[in-house]
Amino acid sequence: MNFDAAAYDAFYRRSIDDPHTFWAEQAQRIEWNKPFTRTLDYDHPPFTKWFVGGETSLCYNAVDRHLATRADQPALIAISTETDSEKVYTFAQLHAEVNRCAAMMQSLGVSQGDRVLIYMPMVAEAAFAMLACARIGAIHSVVFGGFASNSLATRIDDATPVLILSADAGSRGCHVMPYKSLLDEAIVLAEHKPTHVLMVNRGLAPMQTVAGRDIDYATLREKHMDAAVPVVWLESNAPSYILYTSGTTGKPKGVVRDVGGYAVALTTSMDLIFCGKAGETFFCTSDIGWVVGHSYIIYGPLLAGMATVLYEGLPIRPDASIWWSIVEKYKVTRMSSAPTAIRVLKKQPLELLKKHDLSSLKALYLAGEPLDQTTSEWISGVLNVPVIDNYWQTETGWPIISIAKGVGDKPTRSGSPGLPLYGYKTKIINEISGEECAANEKGVVIIEGPLPPGCLQTLYGDDQRFVSTYWRNFKREAYSTFDWGIRDADGYYFILGRTDDVINVAGHRLGTREIEESISSHGNVSEVAVVGVENPIKGQCAVAFVILKNAALAASPEEAKKLEAEIMKVVDKRLGSIGRPSHVYFVSALPKTRSGKLLRRSIQAICEGRDPGDLSVIEDPSALQQIRTALITA
Ligand code: AMP
Repeated sequence: MNFDAAAYDAFYRRSIDDPHTFWAEQAQRIEWNKPFTRTLDYDHPPFTKWFVGGETSLCYNAVDRHLATRADQPALIAISTETDSEKVYTFAQLHAEVNRCAAMMQSLGVSQGDRVLIYMPMVAEAAFAMLACARIGAIHSVVFGGFASNSLATRIDDATPVLILSADAGSRGCHVMPYKSLLDEAIVLAEHKPTHVLMVNRGLAPMQTVAGRDIDYATLREKHMDAAVPVVWLESNAPSYILYTSGTTGKPKGVVRDVGGYAVALTTSMDLIFCGKAGETFFCTSDIGWVVGHSYIIYGPLLAGMATVLYEGLPIRPDASIWWSIVEKYKVTRMSSAPTAIRVLKKQPLELLKKHDLSSLKALYLAGEPLDQTTSEWISGVLNVPVIDNYWQTETGWPIISIAKGVGDKPTRSGSPGLPLYGYKTKIINEISGEECAANEKGVVIIEGPLPPGCLQTLYGDDQRFVSTYWRNFKREAYSTFDWGIRDADGYYFILGRTDDVINVAGHRLGTREIEESISSHGNVSEVAVVGVENPIKGQCAVAFVILKNAALAASPEEAKKLEAEIMKVVDKRLGSIGRPSHVYFVSALPKTRSGKLLRRSIQAICEGRDPGDLSVIEDPSALQQIRTALITA
């Protein structure tokens, strides 16, 4: 193999030893309206400022910049197999739509620094709205469409948006999922009330309109057809967006990202990690509500001058060849997805994939959850392309660990996402001593500051929580990923699951506390524990153990089933179906420590047929037996 291992390692070392020069060079990949005066300001750790004094724009770099060279080339390919629609927007057309949307927002009083909440399905208008915010310096906060009214209300109260963009409905597997009614309910629940709600009417579900507040997108767009909204240039460290993610408390954390650092980090990653070239097509199968969607459906590919696919629909409808037909039709060169989706596709007839000409595809990138060897080898074999695992988080905005194929063709290793990527001073440390672990010794994956460009700057409105949550967990100051891991003797990392009470269902991160809180709102629930249990397709699924106020309510299997359905409905309504447990079991005690702390890990171990650990810390060991019995008798 023609691969220079020393050069690969030297590239990484330089990014760590001399981040100023390294990142100043990478920053030349984007356009600056005003050059930065200082590459890195780490005077107040752990707060990190990149490209201080520089002025730039995510919108300009993602859209306007390409008009001179590729105005008539595809930029956004919006496909919905739910509504049978397909539309390709060139860079010139995308530019026009973003200008219209920006003008619409301005006409509704949105200006620089204002928050705009986007609660939308995977429609082109969602992309226009994100880019329009970036154009006028507004801060977007996209909330995943699978979240229901209570989750949405918490985010509305935290972000206090002046404007919310939404749609009448989304659709999943041809089932209409109303958005507007959930949004209306959320606005009632929230203390903060947005001034306006801009509604895309897809004609999928009836919706009620609140006079004066709700505005129709199509009608307002008509008034701004010729809009030319100047780019608002932002200081590199101005916030570009807030993206909420789950933590150990019920209150989601609003990850805040900057402008310049993010633009540089993504543009660099498109070249060095994803090896995408301008004029090619990138297909990321995630959703705009997740960080992967922000970085690799919207901003990353467009910053690189690539066309990007925005796909609404399932991977198996109309049949399991749909993604491959998109790859063939649009000559996708780089595709990004999650292991769960590949496991779903593996169950489908292989001919559905084989009937397509997939010769354009050069690599498949998988992230969001551990990639098992069987899945990786299967898809790599049938596509005949390299499969590249990449490990990262909402907080970092781009991969932490992978193999940067654009730097060098370093071999991948089965079960490992790879090596720390340039810019990340990643280590495995002992969670008690804070010392670095020896090779193959399990510890916590940490990153020493300063975090590279593109990573979170703080939590929205709560610098203190940012510091105490991420940076104060060990005897040394370091960013905790909250993931267990090991590093082998050659430096390859292996990710072994979360250290906290966060679970990962089909690549989506959920806090068990959030699910427990919604279950607790059921009138008959006294106590509840939710744990993530191994699942062959989704990686993990949520399972709930409930103590009822009146145990007699679940006395018979029929009554227990009825109650289980009721509890699931409560979760659907408050949190969204994404948080719905796969099973609800009824018990009369839950394992706790003597100080009353729920031992979720012991419950999880029993569910997965493992040893529940040190029984001496459990107040009432018979509670463990109850869990076993519930699992057997259900
Ligand atoms: P999220 O912030 O929703 O993207 O979730 C981030 C979490 O997903 C990480 O902290 C890991 O627990 C998990 N994760 C993401 N990518 C990978 C990967 N490639 N391998 C193993 N776990 C991953």
